[in-house]
Amino acid sequence: MEKKPFERPLIKRLNAGMPGKFGIHSHIEPLREIDGVLVKDLIAEHGSPLYVLSESALRRTFREAYQTFSTRYPRVQFAWSYKTNYLNAVCNVFHQEGAWAEVVSGFEYEKALQNGVPGSQIIFNGPDKQEKDLRLAIKNGSLIHIDHFDELYMLLELAGQGTGTPKVAIRVNMDTGIYPRWDRFGFNYENGEAWEALNRILLSEKLELVGLHTHIGTYILTADAYRAAAAKLASLATGIEKKYGKVIQYIDLGGGFASKNTLKGAYVPGTDAAPSFEEYADAISSALIKSEIKPDNLPLLILETGRAMVDDAGYLLGTVLANKRLADGRRATIADIGVNLLFTSFWYQHEVLPAQDVSQHTEETTLYGPLCMNIDVIREAIDFPLLKKGDHLVIKRIGAYNMTQWLQFINYRPRVVMIDEAGKPHVIREREDLVHLIRLEKVPEHLQSPKQKKQ
Ligand SMILES: *Cc1c(COP(=O)(O)O)cnc(C)c1O
Repeated sequence: MEKKPFERPLIKRLNAGMPGKFGIHSHIEPLREIDGVLVKDLIAEHGSPLYVLSESALRRTFREAYQTFSTRYPRVQFAWSYKTNYLNAVCNVFHQEGAWAEVVSGFEYEKALQNGVPGSQIIFNGPDKQEKDLRLAIKNGSLIHIDHFDELYMLLELAGQGTGTPKVAIRVNMDTGIYPRWDRFGFNYENGEAWEALNRILLSEKLELVGLHTHIGTYILTADAYRAAAAKLASLATGIEKKYGKVIQYIDLGGGFASKNTLKGAYVPGTDAAPSFEEYADAISSALIKSEIKPDNLPLLILETGRAMVDDAGYLLGTVLANKRLADGRRATIADIGVNLLFTSFWYQHEVLPAQDVSQHTEETTLYGPLCMNIDVIREAIDFPLLKKGDHLVIKRIGAYNMTQWLQFINYRPRVVMIDEAGKPHVIREREDLVHLIRLEKVPEHLQSPKQKKQ
């Protein structure tokens, strides 16, 4: 009789049908298509891994946010946070919807200009504005949000050089009950620094103070933090009016609304934990309307919502490369999606779904990426069905930050596709190739041949 290969016996927990913290585990429903296009067709046409963005989802979320705020406050303007996703197709969807641009570097500023955004509709944030960037921003009449006194002094210097009067706001940091506090950006409210910066600007008469800005943090799970922030900026605005008779044009509350992703270690899923646009809008509008600002002087409300605007519209598709058992018996599934393509896997417990029918028998599985690096883990422990080599999977809610913080590492970065409102996929960024990657490299003459140097 032929001897069968020995397989070590394993005792493992059965998860199917077992109640968890929130009751009976829900049925795993595969995600077979995005906006009517089959995942397997997208991968067959564009390769794996693949980023997919839904234009309908982008527009739907933008309209929902705009509608929610503009029904609660008279004048609202969104500005698209470039660093959250600066692929031109994405930016232009938001610009078509009426968003201005919010940029934090000379590079992003150039990108916004190239997308055709008028200079007067570019908000220039961040601690790193070079002199040449500021000159250009002044010339274009952009809204410069001053981060520190050194920037203020540089602007005062440039203002005297005939390039036009800089339009400025200051970024204010403050205690909103969110800790750790983001006090490294802008001028502090509580210690009087913000008020001092405003006095210097108004006394100099060389800069035009147009607004007040804050960005209190990111993934803020309580709308009350925005209530506090709006109230503090409103009190600065009334202080300015009282002392200088100057009415500011806008209050900019930055970004930071939570998306529906679940943070690692969170007890409740993000879909339940994240406040809705209504909750944020209620808090902000009520603080502004109840403030001492006179009704005729109510400023334009600017919002720089990033992740909550774009996360849901993005998907990362991939393919299973292999399954194996770890030394302790745990199941490991290896897919072609590395952490270099999913930067947010370091803090989110991303929702991963199979793209085809699967057995409902799940097992705790570690989901690895393809990189030859121990840290390449997409999910440490996910209750997952067995996917075979070649099966596809989909990671949900990856539209924010992954297409800007991605790293070219070990592999080429894949294509990005946007599915339009009629269900037609368009390539919006090509897969990288060797020509693209080595274009910036230079090899000194003596290293141009791989042959060993003669002794
Ligand atoms: C990053 C950033 C945003 C967007 O933040 P989200 O948390 O993604 O909404 C908005 N404004 C400024 C100044 C930023 O730095």
